[in-house]
Amino acid sequence: MDADYDSKQVMGQNSGRAIIHVDMDAFYASVEQRDNPDIAGQPVMVGGLGGRGVVAAASYEARRFGVRSAMPMMRARALCPNGVYLAPRMSHYREVSRAIFKVFEAFTPMVEGLSLDEAFLDVTGSVRLFGGVRAIGRDIQQRISRETGLVASIGMASNKFLAKLASDAEKPAGFVWVPAEGVSAFLDPMPVGRLWGIGKKTEPRLRQLGVLTIGQLRTAEPEALRSALGNRTEHFLALARGEDERPVSPGRAEKSISHEVTFEQDLTDPREMKAELQQQTEAVMKRLRAKNLAARTVHLKIRDHRFHSVTRSRSIRTASNRTETVFKLANGLLGRWLEEHANTPVRLLGVGVSGLEAAQGASAGVDRMVDQIEERYGDGTLTRGLTLERGKRGGRS
Ligand SMILES: [Mg+2]
Repeated sequence: MDADYDSKQVMGQNSGRAIIHVDMDAFYASVEQRDNPDIAGQPVMVGGLGGRGVVAAASYEARRFGVRSAMPMMRARALCPNGVYLAPRMSHYREVSRAIFKVFEAFTPMVEGLSLDEAFLDVTGSVRLFGGVRAIGRDIQQRISRETGLVASIGMASNKFLAKLASDAEKPAGFVWVPAEGVSAFLDPMPVGRLWGIGKKTEPRLRQLGVLTIGQLRTAEPEALRSALGNRTEHFLALARGEDERPVSPGRAEKSISHEVTFEQDLTDPREMKAELQQQTEAVMKRLRAKNLAARTVHLKIRDHRFHSVTRSRSIRTASNRTETVFKLANGLLGRWLEEHANTPVRLLGVGVSGLEAAQGASAGVDRMVDQIEERYGDGTLTRGLTLERGKRGGRS
């Protein structure tokens, strides 16, 4: 146990936790640069290349031109006309992500994945064994570098809120620890917009009150803040003091749910493929709803008779756990593939969802009812829409 952790333990009850936030730097773009030395050191944009595409990741070289992620690709091309523009290779990034998460799991089972390249780790129970939270953070950063050749930024603190701000504070290759006695020095100079939940509406109202920084918010009269923050005043004051009790929930580390079938005989009839896809989507969505999760991305996997595999993805505008929504998107992906590969026998079909988050409200009422009926009477009592009769030749892989 090192001195820094000792000093934290004597402060307040919850400062006893040791939380690490790991965030890979320009993840997709860095993977592409690692895989292709010709574009290392060049401005690289990964994202949708079509007319309405958006930048998913921009290398640090590209950021010098003002390119940012979530920016329309057209705008990126205007800012950086000589950059390298690439379509994302999601299944490849997922593979790299698995290697990164394996590193996390060497230190703690308490890993909450936020995306392919970002996670919270609760290492409170591992601190003694590994010699302090900073020793763990350094070890994670080095192991990721050694095993994937990629750069991670590491934030360490007593809770999620502070750890996340810390990982962001000195990107790229950041390594920032916020000790209990250093919380005010760390937070106070930051703009109030850095507090979770203070958005574009609230920030101007705070500015009118003369509150520009987190420090000014922390020391303001609560009564004066109420006009801008209402009944969330106490919540934001706690955040401004660096207090955040939310636990790291490994349940969310589940990054995707999928289902696939390799057929004993290749499928050639598009209607049969569609029926298969519908059944698989039902199965996937049932598992998703059972975990009270919703998904942001739909994936379709196809392997043809020559063992040529493709994975195609589409994102959902707002996270969903409705079978119909996901089936529509998966079926659209299948339709496009069929247009390009008419009469190609299909050996394997799979559907999956990722970008998982906690489900909001009762968005899937009908689906949930079906789930419950099926639970009572066994699978297949109710089958919606089209399901073609076909022999039992599906096998799981
Ligand atoms: Mg990242």
